[in-house]
Amino acid sequence: MDTSRAAEREEMVERQIEARGVTNSRVLHAMRTVPRHVFVPESHSREAYEDYPLPIGNGQTISQPYIVAVMTELLSPEIGDTILEIGTGSGYQAAVLAACNTTVISIERIPQVAEQAVKNLAAADVTNVRVIVTDGTLGYSDEGPYNGILITAGTPEIPKPLLDELADGGRLVAPVGDRAIQDLVRVKREGETYHTQRYGAVRFVPLIGTYGWRNEEKW
Ligand code: SAM
Repeated sequence: MDTSRAAEREEMVERQIEARGVTNSRVLHAMRTVPRHVFVPESHSREAYEDYPLPIGNGQTISQPYIVAVMTELLSPEIGDTILEIGTGSGYQAAVLAACNTTVISIERIPQVAEQAVKNLAAADVTNVRVIVTDGTLGYSDEGPYNGILITAGTPEIPKPLLDELADGGRLVAPVGDRAIQDLVRVKREGETYHTQRYGAVRFVPLIGTYGWRNEEKW
């Protein structure tokens, strides 16, 4: 693990994350240890610990640190959980989940984005993340059911295959809404009952696939 820029991470956690109410100690530890600068393009390295999302190429983004922390906290990762992430992007969110002592399967639809994420994860010495190139809206039954599923792209509704792959007691977190703005939603599965709660507005690039948005039209 690259330990440089630890002071910037500490400041990021204190000012942007703890100050806004994230308290889960496993999540705070992960945000303190994962070197975010390894996951952003060289041209934006100086901004790696700033309070906003950054472009990562191919029209995609690495999310704002605070949003990564909130989504991870809502997912409530437990040691040994198997987590499915839809939307690998830079690989940073997957690395944060992995730093919570989980095994992560992360799905990305754009091959070039996935290729860079694999490089980023290797550069950060992250070993418990597997990146797969496919349409994540179809789910990934090979490794399911999952204790947690995190969708990191905006979707008009939660893809049915992902609800089916959630383990009993599992949590799913996703931005659900229209193309311009979504609500952060958490679903908890208890048997065949799905309990849904909403946590306010967020803005993500679209989830494009069979059970997401059907095309890349601009909103
Ligand atoms: N989690 C990422 C990170 O930590 O950098 C940020 C994700 S970015 C906001 C959304 C990603 O979802 C993009 O890389 C996009 O290509 C991907 N995506 C969109 N639709 C997808 C789909 N159907 N299956 C898998 N990935 C998808």
